[in-house]
Parts: sequence; structure tokens; C-alpha cells
Amino acid sequence: MDDMLAGLRLARAVGNSRAMSSWRNDEVFPGAAVHDGGQLQRSGSVGTYFHPVGTCKMGTDPAAVVDLELRVHGVECLRIVDASVMPSLPAANTNATVRAIAERAVAIITGDEHVPAEPVIGAAA
Ligand SMILES: Cc1cc2nc3c(=O)[nH]c(=O)nc-3n(C[C@H](O)[C@H](O)[C@H](O)COP(=O)(O)OP(=O)(O)OC[C@H]3O[C@@H](n4cnc5c(N)ncnc54)[C@H](O)[C@@H]3O)c2cc1C
Repeated sequence: MDDMLAGLRLARAVGNSRAMSSWRNDEVFPGAAVHDGGQLQRSGSVGTYFHPVGTCKMGTDPAAVVDLELRVHGVECLRIVDASVMPSLPAANTNATVRAIAERAVAIITGDEHVPAEPVIGAAA
């Protein structure tokens, strides 16, 4: 809760900055009149945005569940091909990202494409 309140205050500071003045309008929710921590907590509303990922993340570190070819570490003949293998939340909606992972899995399984030696998700372009 403390982190969320700090995030809200930071968002307000950015929104109220001079640089944003030409785009700014009145705060819609919870509204500029709501200031103190208790009021903010009571007026708050939180959603997941329905994009959970990463419960079986891909990688080579001890916390990774699948390797770079989507094979489950320590288990033979089992791959995971879904949102759970994303090492972190992508800066994109997850549906198309899952489809891209699935297309990649097809390429890996059929041997149609070279697989990189290191994860590329999150790497600088
Ligand atoms: C309400 C909502 C809105 C969303 N809106 C968007 C959006 O606008 N844009 C976007 O990009 N993403 C959106 N998403 C996210 C996106 O839908 C998911 O990230 C994506 O579908 C995840 O794909 P997945 O293959 O990992 O899992 P899922 O799509 O959940 O697929 C899992 C499948 O496994 C099946 N299954 C489960 N258990 C078993 C079992 N025991 N045996 C056999 N089958 C089983 C399920 O029936 C399901 O078909 C939304 C998600 C939700 C919930």
C-alpha cells in the first residue's frame, strides 16, 4: 500500500509539472481534493490488468523453469509455451506476445530457425 501511495504521489507530481501544463486537465480520480494517505487508501481502486506472466520463467539462472528452447529444466520431453515463460512483463499486451512465443516454439521444434544462445527479451535493441 505504501508503495502504491508513493507511486500515485509521483504520478501526480509528473502530471502537475510545468512540462505537462499544456496537456493537463482536472484530475478525474480520485480528484485533487483527496490528499491524505487515509483518504487515498479508502478511495483507491486496484486492478490486475489481466496480464500475469512469468510463473515458469525462461532462463539459465537457478529460478528459471524452462531453458532457452522452452524445455522444462530437469524434465525430458516437456516444453512450456505460454505467458508463464516470459522472464518479465513485456512493454506490450500479452496476447500477441504469447502468439510470438508460440511461433517461436514451432520454429524451435521444427528446426526452422536458429535459436539465440542468450535470452533476448528485455535486452537493449
Ligand atoms: C479479461 C481479460 C482481458 C484480456 N485482454 C487482453 C487484451 O485486450 N490484449 C491482450 O494482449 N491480452 C489480453 N489479455 C491477456 C491474454 O488473454 C493472456 O495474456 C493470454 O491469453 C495468455 O495466454 P496463455 O496461453 O498463457 O494462457 P490462456 O490463454 O489462459 O490459455 C490457457 C489454456 O489452457 C486451458 N487449460 C487450463 N487448464 C487445463 C487443463 N487442465 N487441461 C487442458 N487445458 C487446460 C484453458 O482452458 C486455456 O484455454 C486479457 C486477459 C483477460 C483475462
